[in-house]
Amino acid sequence: MDQRAKRLQPFATTIFSEMTALANHYEAVNLAQGFPDFDGPIQGKQAAIGAIQSNHNQYTPLHGLSDLRRAIANWNTDLNNLTYDPDSEITVTNGCTEAITAALLGLVNPEDEVILFEPYYDSYRAACAFAGAHTKFVTIDPTDDGFTFTKEALERAFTPRTRAIIINTPHNPTGMVMTPEQLGWIADQCVQHDVIAIADEVYEQLTYDNTPHTSIATLPHMRERTLVLSSMGNTFSLTGWKVGWALGPAPLTGALRSAHQFITFCVPGPLQLGCATMLNDCRQDVEDLRTHLQSMRDKLGSALTELGFHIRAPKGSYFIMADHTEVSKRLGLNTDIELCRWLPEHAAVAAIPPSVFYNTPDLGHNFIRFSFAKTEPTIDRAIHRLRLALS
Ligand code: GLN
Repeated sequence: MDQRAKRLQPFATTIFSEMTALANHYEAVNLAQGFPDFDGPIQGKQAAIGAIQSNHNQYTPLHGLSDLRRAIANWNTDLNNLTYDPDSEITVTNGCTEAITAALLGLVNPEDEVILFEPYYDSYRAACAFAGAHTKFVTIDPTDDGFTFTKEALERAFTPRTRAIIINTPHNPTGMVMTPEQLGWIADQCVQHDVIAIADEVYEQLTYDNTPHTSIATLPHMRERTLVLSSMGNTFSLTGWKVGWALGPAPLTGALRSAHQFITFCVPGPLQLGCATMLNDCRQDVEDLRTHLQSMRDKLGSALTELGFHIRAPKGSYFIMADHTEVSKRLGLNTDIELCRWLPEHAAVAAIPPSVFYNTPDLGHNFIRFSFAKTEPTIDRAIHRLRLALS
């Protein structure tokens, strides 16, 4: 008997856990769940270990340690040229995923509408359900110029009941990086309809081909209506640390904090101190990661193209969304789900079926998501196995 509350019944076990379990079962190369198979800067790890050893092991303030909030403020000023007050405008969270839930629970009333772009990161939809919100969708379409959305589709999603829009750039899973023009369309609608922007920018540092990242908070009239959410997990290749943050004007920050204090209260102190060290001292590691990931994107992308996948090169993030129509046809398979079940068993490589990230799953059935956030030997092994199984 399903004992789950009704609000959770529409949701299956998250696809990341499902595909990682399948990958482990078949000893497959896990290009499914987005995490690197290498660790971030040693200085960060040493700072966290040092903090444990020197007894920084009790609760921290609910909004985070001052050292970290100050490091985040400087980091964000350098990136986005915006200033946030560490005491009233910055909150440390358990990764960006918790920040999203805290933002929605803190700001959205039951029956309010929240706009999501589809494909979306799966937790957005569950967090909207926790808040009792109705969801509206703007589709990101595959085109000859990459993944994009239209101004018309965006404008159609806004209604007098819209409370918030969740923006994710660089985008998981498509790798789309929103342009200032696209962000301007969103900003115009937010101002016109008095809507809050919740901006998930966890891949802010991971853009390729010199594509600039723009935060919507930098657009006119947007700082006062935006919560910028980010984290150190992907930037510093320590995804299991789950240290994230939310930046926003005091009223939005206050709403988020009032939910955050009851969800989790605070974030592990030693990890906060490790994170502060990395934000302050490990900028070169981020440059090196970006260069590495761009070359892994290119390597995996060319191999996939050679094997018959159709690729739109991602401008950011960890992921390639590849059209698998031709490959699946050769194998006698149909959907992304069929291919993602087939691959670990027959090729010992795992990927994610993105149809689970769509309100209209059909829109995602021709795609499959591969993560290229791996060492070169791992990418080489995956390519070798895919060639053996698919050529
Ligand atoms: N953000 C990562 C991804 O998209 C992993 C998320 C998770 O495992 N919950 O793959």
